[in-house]
Amino acid sequence: MELSIEDKLVNIIGITQGNICYRCLGRNFSKNIDGPGNLERGKYLRNQLEESKQNISKTDTCYICNDLFNDLDNMINNVVGVLKDEEIHFSNFLVGSRVDPEILRREEKIHETFDIDVENIKKEINREIGKEISLKLSKEVEFDNPNIVLMVDFHTDTIDIQINPIFIESRYRKLIRGIPQTKWPCNKCKSKGCEKCNYTGKMYTETVEELISEDAIKAANGIGAKFHGAGREDIDVKMLGKGRTFVLEIKEPKFRDINLKKLQETINKHAAGKVEISEMKFVEKNRRAIIKESSRDTYKIYKATVELENEVDNSLLDSLKSIKIINQRTPIRVSHRRADKIRTREIRQIKYKKINPKLLELIIECEGGLYIKELISSDENRSQPSIAGIFKTGAKCVKLDVLDVNI
Ligand SMILES: [Zn+2]
Ligand SMILES: [Zn+2]
Repeated sequence: MELSIEDKLVNIIGITQGNICYRCLGRNFSKNIDGPGNLERGKYLRNQLEESKQNISKTDTCYICNDLFNDLDNMINNVVGVLKDEEIHFSNFLVGSRVDPEILRREEKIHETFDIDVENIKKEINREIGKEISLKLSKEVEFDNPNIVLMVDFHTDTIDIQINPIFIESRYRKLIRGIPQTKWPCNKCKSKGCEKCNYTGKMYTETVEELISEDAIKAANGIGAKFHGAGREDIDVKMLGKGRTFVLEIKEPKFRDINLKKLQETINKHAAGKVEISEMKFVEKNRRAIIKESSRDTYKIYKATVELENEVDNSLLDSLKSIKIINQRTPIRVSHRRADKIRTREIRQIKYKKINPKLLELIIECEGGLYIKELISSDENRSQPSIAGIFKTGAKCVKLDVLDVNI
């Protein structure tokens, strides 16, 4: 049989020999008695007992929390101090806490003994600290997507601040060949640094990623960045047209309210002649995955310069127009890192221009994910059909540009 509120109260006071603080007492009855908070609720319950002469007064620290709530103000002041010292800019936050596991165990024991189903002590601590910090600093508590998470540890008496990343979206154009999109560790030393890489640990001194992220990390006073591109082009391929969409994730930014217009200018100045980015905007975390997904089903336009082994008849050249569906087995050059499978991609249009009898310029409009170099060379018949196959002569892509994506 379930105990009445009054019996529960008398029993809890008995089991703790009166040594229970107002908050811990009040919390146990938060579902039974209305009130402005556990502190007030606890005081009210104690008063009720005084009147019924069943009270045992508190002579020692709280059986449940060990009078942890007395340290609350101190902890809040420490948190505010650390946020100011570290000069962390934010507009919203969330509080998490850790307490001695013994506290949780003792509280659970009371809950079990009296069949009580209420929030645990950590929820109350988080809420109380959140309320105070919100008041002191005029910042909002945010549960779903906080700028920072304040982890307050009463067990070790420490504060840990987790700064969540910011995400910035833009598009880049790569104006020269020879720069990979993202960092490429030296394949000899695995980025430790060796003679081959001139002790840089990298295969290429510059990447699109670094040209963009260095200034962004500086502006946000972050500790690093991650580059998420909507697909990628090969190192020797230019990225032209409107450019390729990317999301830059800046880790642990102390400043989130950065001036994107100014940052764009700084980056474009720094990367002048190599990489150029368009207008930047702040986006949600989920854009990362969305742009990666979308890169697969967009169409692209390439410009390819093709060297032929033998001259080809005009009538044969015209047959390029009839190419529609390409079946491609994973190219030899990437087979060491990609699964071996056959993919099917559509070509919307191929236009050609003869530069000389053995040199063609092609404009290829096709579905994303088609390997252009292999479409041209046939990649030992792994591309069906292929330009070399149709022309019945060797064909090689000597220059490639992405003219546009997302068409
Ligand atoms: Zn307590
Ligand atoms: Zn190396």
